[in-house]
Order: sequence, then C-alpha cells, then structure tokens
Amino acid sequence: MANLRFEAVEEAFKKRPVEVNAPTERPSEFYGKFVFNRSKMYKYLPADIYKKLVDVMDNGSRLDRSIADAVAQGMKQWAKENGVTHYTHWFQPLTEGTAEKHDAFIEHDGKGGMIEEFSGKLLVQQEPDASSFPNGGIRNTFEARGYSAWDPTSPVFIIDDTLCIPTIFISYTGEALDYKAPLLKALRAVNVAATKVCQYFYPEVKQVTSNLGWEQEYFLVDEDLYFARPDLMLTGRTLMGHDSAKNQQMDDHYFGTIPERVQAFMKDLEIQALELGIPCKTRHNEVAPGQFELAPIFEECNLAVDHNMLLMSLMKKVAHKHSFRVLLHEKPFGGINGSGKHNNWSLSTDTGVLLHATGKTPIDNLRFVVFIVETLMAVYKHNGLLKASVMSATNDHRLGANEAPPAIISSFLGKQISDLLDHIEKADKDDLFALSGKTGMRIEIPEIPVLFIDNTDRNRTSPFAFTGNRFEFRAVGSEANCASAMIVLNAAVAEALNNFADRVDALMAKGEEKNSAIIDVIREDIKTCKPIRFDGNGYSDDWKKEAAQRGLDCEASCPICFDRYLDTASIKMFEATHVLSHNELEARNEVKWETYTKKIQIEARVMGDLAMNHIIPVATHYQSQLAKNVQNMMDVFGDIEGKQLSERNIKIIREIAERTTLIESGIEELVNARKVANKIENQRERAIAYHDTIAPKMEKIRYQIDKLELVVSDELWTLPKYRELLFIR
Ligand code: ADP
Ligand code: MG
Repeated sequence: MANLRFEAVEEAFKKRPVEVNAPTERPSEFYGKFVFNRSKMYKYLPADIYKKLVDVMDNGSRLDRSIADAVAQGMKQWAKENGVTHYTHWFQPLTEGTAEKHDAFIEHDGKGGMIEEFSGKLLVQQEPDASSFPNGGIRNTFEARGYSAWDPTSPVFIIDDTLCIPTIFISYTGEALDYKAPLLKALRAVNVAATKVCQYFYPEVKQVTSNLGWEQEYFLVDEDLYFARPDLMLTGRTLMGHDSAKNQQMDDHYFGTIPERVQAFMKDLEIQALELGIPCKTRHNEVAPGQFELAPIFEECNLAVDHNMLLMSLMKKVAHKHSFRVLLHEKPFGGINGSGKHNNWSLSTDTGVLLHATGKTPIDNLRFVVFIVETLMAVYKHNGLLKASVMSATNDHRLGANEAPPAIISSFLGKQISDLLDHIEKADKDDLFALSGKTGMRIEIPEIPVLFIDNTDRNRTSPFAFTGNRFEFRAVGSEANCASAMIVLNAAVAEALNNFADRVDALMAKGEEKNSAIIDVIREDIKTCKPIRFDGNGYSDDWKKEAAQRGLDCEASCPICFDRYLDTASIKMFEATHVLSHNELEARNEVKWETYTKKIQIEARVMGDLAMNHIIPVATHYQSQLAKNVQNMMDVFGDIEGKQLSERNIKIIREIAERTTLIESGIEELVNARKVANKIENQRERAIAYHDTIAPKMEKIRYQIDKLELVVSDELWTLPKYRELLFIR
C-alpha cells in the first residue's frame, strides 16, 4: 500500500534551503521601493497637488476630487515605470483576509486601439459586487452594490504587476462592510478626545496618533507533509495527532538557532516586506517547535493594520517558494503553545510626546498618570467587549483553554506603577501639591525612575500588560485582523478620555483650579477601575474566582462573548464615538456567529471524513494483520498455547475494536448533532449549539483517534505525525 506519509517525509528530508539573493543596496535604500510614499509623491506629483495630498494625509482634510486626477496620473506614471499593468482596490472584508479585484489600465481609445488609462475617479472609488462578502443582512443580494473608497492615509503599493490601492468597503447605504472604515473612525475619535485632554498639559498639541506594533507568531510546516494532512489543508489545524514524545519540554527551541530553511524563508520575507515598506525588525524562534515570530517597528495604527494584513499574505506566498506552508491558525497543534499576535499600543502627539511614557516634569508625569488611568478605565468598562473583539472559533482554542492569555481581561501594571497609583489614590490631596514660590501650585507626583522602562517585570499571563511605554494586548489571535481589537480599544479609550474631560471641565466651571480638578477626577477613576488591575498569575483557578467577584467578564464561550457587542454600554460607546451604529453592530454580529458556525461545521465534516476514510480503515487493516498472526500462532502451537503467546496482540485487537466502535458511534452522534443544529434558524443560537454540542464531541473522537495512533503500526499510519510535522524542516 503506497503511503503518502512516507513519500512526504522522504521529500521533506531531501529539501535544502532555497538560495535568497539579497539586493545589493542597503535595506535603507530598498525600503519602500514598491510604495508610493512621500518621496515618490514629491517626485511624481506637481508641487501644488503634492501639498494638497499631504494636507489630506496629515490633517484629515477632505480629498478634493479635482486633485484626484492629477494624483492618479502621477501614480500611473510611477506604476508603469515599474512594469505595472493592472490596478486593484485592496480592502478588508469581514473574512479576516483581504480582497482584491484586478482591472487592467487599458481603455478604448475610440480609434480602434487601446490607451492606458487611470483616472482620478477609478483611484477614488469603485463598485465591487458586494453580494458575496459577509454583510450580516445589511444588503440584500438584489442591492448588491458595495463601494470601495481610497484611504489616502495608507499609501498605494505594487505587488507583481498590480497597483494596490488601500480602500474602505461600505454598502450602498453607507454602512461599513469591512474593518478599515470603523477603524479610521475609532482613530479619529481617539485623536479628538486625546488631543483635548493633552491640551490641559500642552496647549500646542494639535493631533494625537494611535500607535500599533504587532508581533506576529506563526508555524511553518513542510509543504509535502502539509499536503498529506487534509485537516491542515482544509481547516488550518490538526484535528488529531498524538503528542510527539519530545515537544517543547526542553525549551530548546525558543530563541535557539534558526533552522537553515527557515532562515532562508525569513530573509526572503524580510526583503520583500521591506520593499513594501513594512519595517521588519525582529525575528526569532518561538516557544513551540516549528513556531516563529516576526515583529516590525511600530507605526501609526491604520498603517500598521494594513501592513499586518499585507505581511500575512506575503508570508503565504514566500513560504510556498521555500516549500513551506505558514500556519496562522491560533492552535494548529494540540498539546503545545498556540500562536497569537501581541498588539503593542500607545498614543503619541504631533509634538513628539509619547503619552504612555513618563516624562521629565511633574506635569509630564501627571499627564502620564491620566493616560494610564483612562486607558485602564476603558479596559475596565469594556473588558467583556475587548475579549469579544479577539474571540473567534480559532482563537477560542487559546482563550477558552488554559493557554496564554486567559479568557478574563485584566491589566498588569508592575510594582512601580501600581505603587504610584496607590499613592495618588490614598495620599492626602494636599500632599500631592506643594507650594513653590512664584511658580504657584506644583504637583508632587513622585518621580518615576527612567530605568523602569527597561525594567518592567514581565508577566506573560497578563492579557493587557503595561510594558514601559505602551500597553501590550496579548489576547489577539494570530490569524485575526488586528483592526478588530484596535477598533474597540481606541473607541473605548476615546470614550474614557471624553468622559474624563467632561468631568474636569465641569469642576473647572465650578471654579476649581485645573490641576486640582484633574487630580480629583483621576483619583476617582483610580478607585473605579481598580478591579481591572491584576499582577498575579492569570492562569490560576483562584484568579477565576476572584475575577468573578470583581465583576470582570469571565464568559469563555465564544458565541456568547459576541453578545458584548450588543450590550447597552457598548452600543452607547460605539454610537457616541461615531464608530459603528446599532444596525452595523447587529449585522456584524450575525457575521461573527455565522462564521463561527461554519468553521466548526467544516472541522466536523473533515473529522468525519478522516475518521471513516483514513483512521478506521488503517486501524482495521492492522487489526486483521494481528488477527492473522494470532491464527498462525494457533496453527503452530495449538489453540491454548497459541492464544497464550498472542496475549499482547489479542489485547491490541480488542483495543482497536473498542476504539473504532467508539469513533464510529462518535461520528454518528456528531452528524446527528449537526443535523439538529443546522435546523436552528437564529444565527446566535445555532453558533451556541455548535459550541456546546458539536465542538466537545470532536474532542472525544480525537481522544480515541490519538490513542489508536499509539497502537497501530507506524508503517501503516497514513497521516504525518506530530514529530514529523513539527521537527522536519
Ligand atoms: P517583546 O519583548 O514584547 O517580544 P518586541 O521587541 O518583539 O517585544 O516587540 C515589541 C513591539 O512593540 C515592536 O513592534 C515595537 O516596535 C513595539 N513598540 C515599542 N514601543 C512602542 C510604543 N510606545 N507603542 C507601540 N508599540 C511599541
Ligand atoms: Mg511582546
């Protein structure tokens, strides 16, 4: 019997690193080579157009249609010089991926020939048929129009022969059908709110930017082995597979020497990412065998999100060239770490102040405290919603299980900041002020040693940890669009800052001095948001109990977590910040529930298929071999002695019979449970049924299959084993 597994293993062993020719220029020279960035705008656009476009990008001014034509001409010129023949609006529908529809530049010239055309109109807006994208019922199929509209704050780039134009994607009636539209609104909201708060301290501040530095974890698997695993191909994860005897116990992979083929892949990926303007900086092995990480330098949030989406698709392409498959699934393998995407987030001003970092003066430090505390207020108030923003069928394997980080959102501050907040909360108010000569009232916020920035003790179990000059949201899924988390976080912080400013203004209107008013409000908020602060072990059972007592959201079921989007407080927050309307929230939740159901449904089908067509036939085949052997032994030694001598084989024959029976009945139950669930009309209820009745059944079947893998002869087993998937590269 030809065994695809052994052929794949043999092929995988033969592979050598693909040679990567690094450009002769320095990275600083080829960085952004395929991006229509400012220096290219300067070169390809008339001076007045360049100025207007920069104004649009920097100050959010409206894009004047009259300049669009000139911008399009400049872009086309640059694109043509780079061999580009097509263009596409590049957008981020609610599928976690990106979408593109390519059109050639050509138009009829009216004389029977063709000219290369690219007008401002085509740059600014397109009408892709939206009927096949998830929309949660916002748009009926007969009203299939969706609009994509250029986002000039994210630069246009070239992939192969195509000019890619980052766009938002909205319905005919203006509702968002994507991640970018609400993200841009959330970023605007936090900009306005934070600028207002900043002006208490620094009147010259005109804008606040939200920063995002993501760290992308991923697995690499040899492509031949991948193709021999239908579950990996169809669901992105292994639905079965016994632990490898050695996996991550030795911690010898983490930060270890990068394997050669992987090193070549990383090098190739980095070069191409740099050419696309993605500022890759860090690469290393992660904790699990076969797991790696890549992190760029942080950027403005919208751009960082685009770059992450772009990087994920680039990774897939480059991996293929190196005969790898990249697994972005949050939990491709049972028993070892899954992958996440840490989102390092902070706010900074147009004057260069990092608002989540301490400063030199007492005013700087008061500002620091305000931004830390109001971020905590946002996280406290919307902790359930923040969790919902990172929940998915795939990330459920991390958040719902005992894996980094837990499904309760809390924030780690470290001892110094905790002490500082406690001091501000408890100190006599007069102690926080000192009268100092002519300068009048001075705030006595204790000095925070600069050293602490590199010194923050790490707490790997915290989902939302303060790490010196930023917060690190660690619960984001490796496969997710970062925008989902960033929409909620930025909108929630905007709400908290607006609320803070309203209360400070109210006190000042009553005649209270500004700094005193700020201190009053901040002291109140330090008390209010205290339940979100937790520096202990996020995995412990004690914490689960305590978190529930503190009133934090402890729900671990993914489809129920989505309810948080429709809480009164959430709707109020999204509407007040103009990020998403009630209608949009409802529609998006329909999409979330439907997607959840579909993912589990596909997994259940694949599992059924594999169990019936691979596992059971292989196991029974081995069983017959053993039975034949027992028969032979009895022929040689007689029934009694023959049986005695075959004790072990008989035991295995029985075990195989028992386990295959359980698998078969398990699959039958699974099919029946699916039939019941599929009849449920309501998307939410159906998703809950899939979560509660179908997913656990799959776990039970898997258990039996993994046990069979241990007893069936290695020679017969058709699916590449964990040790092969994880260690051959
Ligand atoms: P870690 O030690 O957490 O693995 P890394 O250096 O791998 O840290 O990644 C940290 C990420 O955080 C990088 O993308 C980095 O650019 C980003 N980062 C650093 N400072 C800030 C900040 N103030 N705001 C947002 N992101 C930041
Ligand atoms: Mg990190």
